[in-house]
Amino acid sequence: MGESSVIVYVPPVLFGLVAVTFLVLWRQNIVTNWQWGAGFGQTALGFSLSTFPIEPIFDAFTSGMIFIGAAYCYSSAVFEHFQAPSFDRERRWFVGAYTLLLVYCIFVLESLRYQIFLTDIAFACLIGLALTTAIPKARRSVDKILLASIGLAFVDTVARAVYFFFFYGDASDDFGDFVDSAYNLAVHITTITICMTFPFSALVASGVSAMERHRQAAERDPLTGLLNRRGFETALTEFGVSGLREGAVLVCDIDHFKQINDTLGHATGDAVISAVADMLRQVTAASAVTARFGGEEYVVFLPSTSVAEARTSGERIRQTVSEKDWRFFGLARPVTLSIGIDRIRPDETDPHAAIARADRALYAAKAAGRNRVFEAGDGADLHASGLASA
Ligand code: GH3
Ligand code: MG
Ligand code: MG
Repeated sequence: MGESSVIVYVPPVLFGLVAVTFLVLWRQNIVTNWQWGAGFGQTALGFSLSTFPIEPIFDAFTSGMIFIGAAYCYSSAVFEHFQAPSFDRERRWFVGAYTLLLVYCIFVLESLRYQIFLTDIAFACLIGLALTTAIPKARRSVDKILLASIGLAFVDTVARAVYFFFFYGDASDDFGDFVDSAYNLAVHITTITICMTFPFSALVASGVSAMERHRQAAERDPLTGLLNRRGFETALTEFGVSGLREGAVLVCDIDHFKQINDTLGHATGDAVISAVADMLRQVTAASAVTARFGGEEYVVFLPSTSVAEARTSGERIRQTVSEKDWRFFGLARPVTLSIGIDRIRPDETDPHAAIARADRALYAAKAAGRNRVFEAGDGADLHASGLASA
């Protein structure tokens, strides 16, 4: 390759820029793992090595180790991104075996051909493992694009390895000729044209993941893991879109909760709030949308549910909470809930009116003695159920 060719500088610069971007995003806690940054950084370093006049044997060994390090980081990043098992032990053994073989190819066989073939195949094995593990887990289109670009890098690496090893007949096997070799030029051209899609799709996929994580955090209550008011409204909007909004709402409030805080402390109060949330999750149907609306108040939406069915569910929730053994929490008497229910009427476009009616029923239940389920509407007190006043 001629000295005038600037093409060799393009991969290190591009990979370097992406690496710096990833590391900055990681430092700012926007992306969760540093492996993308480390992988792209090592790739940039590996490519820049071949642009400097350094001792060829040293170059061959160092760049071999750098590229396998990059592949290791890429595979780790993919496993984490897709929350897949990471085969840490197996991959470390693999890198160890590769290192021994690399030493053998360079210092015993003194063969550039074998060294390049070995490095390419090892690189392909690591990203191929990540690829096959992640494919079943790719749901979003950005993730599919990321895997497609890794697939391209995989095919490119294997194709080059096979071509160079088996068909590049007049290739020199001398390390000193590598920088000027047609293979090195081919590496740079294919890297720019094909593999650059990989870092940018990784950047986009990580960015989308970060946004989703932040959106989820903004819609969840950190104490209980239930939805918060905002998440509840978003979830119901999604139900509305799929035509399932019709259903019932239950507003549940812990009775005399302030006394628990006052006698046993705020931490015990928090533990009780979490325990009630767990029970709500266990007792309600999988389709239920359950939220904590602040304090010790919860709202449950039961899609496609009549008031009578909601009442049965409310009773089940009330009983489960009051029958639990609360002594473990230091409580001398059971925790109880008052529950108000109503249905979302077909003409209602948002749940607020139904929640307000259920809330009024809840306060009627409190006024009637607590630890009971009331439904909204005339004569709600006649429908009261449950035990005597708590
Ligand atoms: P009622 O039966 O009428 O519902 O009485 P209550 O004591 O349960 O209701 P009240 O509204 O008087 O008190 C609720 C208390 O909940 C007051 C507030 O300090 C406490 N609280 C609100 N949020 C939290 C929280 O996140 N953790 C804890 N431990 N306490 C909280
Ligand atoms: Mg209360
Ligand atoms: Mg309350």
